[in-house]
Amino acid sequence: MNFEKKPFAPRQMIKGSWKCSECGKEITELPFEPSPDRPIYCRECWAKRRNRKFRR
Ligand SMILES: [Zn+2]
Repeated sequence: MNFEKKPFAPRQMIKGSWKCSECGKEITELPFEPSPDRPIYCRECWAKRRNRKFRR
């Protein structure tokens, strides 16, 4: 097992303080740089939206 060698840069979590645009839950870190003009969702809402998208 070799967890230290990764083909990609390690996922960097950006720390901050945001609120989920859907449920209002506090978000303290994001795996990506948040855009000020875009809604931010917590993990749960992200998952929900994803499911909704792929649902047929
Ligand atoms: Zn949420």
